[in-house]
Amino acid sequence: MSTATHCPYCALQCAMHVEPGPDGAPAARPAEFPTNRGGLCRKGWTSAELLSSPERITRPLLRTDRTGAFTETDWDTALDHVAAKLADLRAAHGPDAVAVFGSGSLTNEKSYLLGKFARLALGTSQIDYNGRFCMSSAAAAGNRAFGLDRGMGFPLPDVASAEVVLLAGANPAETMPPMMGHLTAPRLIVVDPRRSATAAYALEHGGLHLAPRPGTDAALALGLLHAARTQHLLDEDYICARTTGFEAAWRYAAAFWPEQTEQVTGVPVHRIREAARLLGTAGGAYVLTGRGSEQHATGTDTVSAWINLALALGLPGREGSGYGCITGQGNGQGGREHGQKADQLPGYRRIDDPAARTHVAGVWGVEPEELPGPGRSAYELLDALGTEDGPRAMLLLGSNPAVSAPGTERVRNRLSALELLVTCDFVMSETAAMSDVVLPVAQWAEEEGTMTNLEGRLLRRRAVLSAPAGVRTDLEVLSSLATRLGQPAERFPDRPDAVLAELGRASAGGGADYSGVTPERLEQGEEVFWPAADAAASTPRMFLDAFAHPDGRARFAAVGHRGAAEEPDADYPLYATTGRMMGHYQSGAQTRRIGELAAAEPEAYVEVHPDTGARAGLEEGDWARVVSRRGATLARIRHRADARADTVFLPFHFGGAQAANNLTNPVLDPTSRMPEFKVSAVRLEHADTA
Ligand code: SF4
Repeated sequence: MSTATHCPYCALQCAMHVEPGPDGAPAARPAEFPTNRGGLCRKGWTSAELLSSPERITRPLLRTDRTGAFTETDWDTALDHVAAKLADLRAAHGPDAVAVFGSGSLTNEKSYLLGKFARLALGTSQIDYNGRFCMSSAAAAGNRAFGLDRGMGFPLPDVASAEVVLLAGANPAETMPPMMGHLTAPRLIVVDPRRSATAAYALEHGGLHLAPRPGTDAALALGLLHAARTQHLLDEDYICARTTGFEAAWRYAAAFWPEQTEQVTGVPVHRIREAARLLGTAGGAYVLTGRGSEQHATGTDTVSAWINLALALGLPGREGSGYGCITGQGNGQGGREHGQKADQLPGYRRIDDPAARTHVAGVWGVEPEELPGPGRSAYELLDALGTEDGPRAMLLLGSNPAVSAPGTERVRNRLSALELLVTCDFVMSETAAMSDVVLPVAQWAEEEGTMTNLEGRLLRRRAVLSAPAGVRTDLEVLSSLATRLGQPAERFPDRPDAVLAELGRASAGGGADYSGVTPERLEQGEEVFWPAADAAASTPRMFLDAFAHPDGRARFAAVGHRGAAEEPDADYPLYATTGRMMGHYQSGAQTRRIGELAAAEPEAYVEVHPDTGARAGLEEGDWARVVSRRGATLARIRHRADARADTVFLPFHFGGAQAANNLTNPVLDPTSRMPEFKVSAVRLEHADTA
């Protein structure tokens, strides 16, 4: 039997059928859908393999001594132990002694129930999620500019009609290949310090590759705005009718003459002028940003600088043009709307907004005063674990911060300092392996739920097969723990349709309104984009009439260029930047366990220019020790003749001694609290072996 569902990995959420393969084990096959048009990448094709993996955890695991081995136990024993320990810590130290860490990979239903569980069952303010490391800068900049953040405010197929697309800090040719089918614009402009697969594609197809020095993306965006204005390419009517704040923003751009921009970024003057001219004269154009623009201590302002350019050219809120953020994680969009963020309640509401608190408290059947206030952001939360004032216990779902957090050695020390770490997972990730309790949960194809993809489109994830005996869903785990912590059972339903219905009520009237989203609409194949305030509503294209600020106008942000927090010096003479590769997803906890993917990319590598490698005495294939002020990682040398001589690149999908995040800098963006994953100063040393 074949069941239609969607890929477990990235935000493109490609459609697939899962059916028995030749050996009887489940296998994924591509299906037609607007985002993937019948395509799947290598990760999607092999995604079903993990469903029958011998590495599945199928019994709760418990240990009372962190240095000892896990023992298998039954669910009642495990849940009773966790609930009793959480209750004891709360009683002794207050509700903020327990923390919750969620994920942009969780379904909408799980994201919602997790936020409710933290605020009601635990009463803690200490909840955040790994999406803080992914999308938070773009979300903050989108809210600032448009009054509401929906990563892409238009269906992806719209992009195919554009004459020019500028991609800033995104590499879809490698990270989400089916998206390339939509990047058919005659001129593609790729902004990336690295000659990525997408940059190479652009050059081969008549486009441009602008390669700014790491950490200078904002300066390039300011320079493009300057070049567009001096070439008389701005849409003055649009600026006048649909925006505010242009002149204040221009004061920052005014100094970025092309020559000045070249000095800061290294991008040649003629390329800056050419890119501005292409964008400003196109019949339809899109500016799309990704993690390369966002994962900086200046990430929010950097994205704002790109949005300023798009606004000045009159792109957002128009058919056939626009600005969009390319979400990374599978439910990166939905995951940030339903209340698992430290500062938010469902419906994309602020937790410090009295009206929002009253509305959500009403749906939850409690008084607004019972809801805690905002808590720590993801890195600040992880960095506080086990400290005098920080949480003493943490419940973690769908995340692997021992690999994915910046400066991971410090984070691993903080995780080790907890009195109780409980991880819900289906394999023994690096973080699960550090836990006191591991609760075995169902995978994507073993449960029902909804996801919101990078377009803001709602999708139905279907159960293809039953979970192995002994495995429970995350919703069942949360519901069981909530009742053990004294909550009424009816307050924490464990059926996805019941949770979705309640999510709809909680989000009603908010920015991300899901009150008209029903399983029936999705089952019938209806295209539903939020906001969907009633059973007939759907919003494929945002802001066509007005932006979401009270006056209906978009806001230019007055932002300048500040640069990276850490620059190369005599001790650490190179920039290091990190990113994804084709064959692995996020921390690699899933994809490193899939035979074909592990065989293709079994180990960490570092891309270097041959001259840079030679200066450190490193040949192709040698093991290198890459060292930053935070720590060191081991990676095999890969020479790239087209690499910048001042920059090395490392994929971040490997753990332990090969974790790229051993190097990365946890300095945070002041608005989004995004760490600076994209720029570290490092040196290369010879290593005998990994
Ligand atoms: Fe599609 Fe992303 Fe899955 Fe690849 S990983 S098949 S691009 S959803």
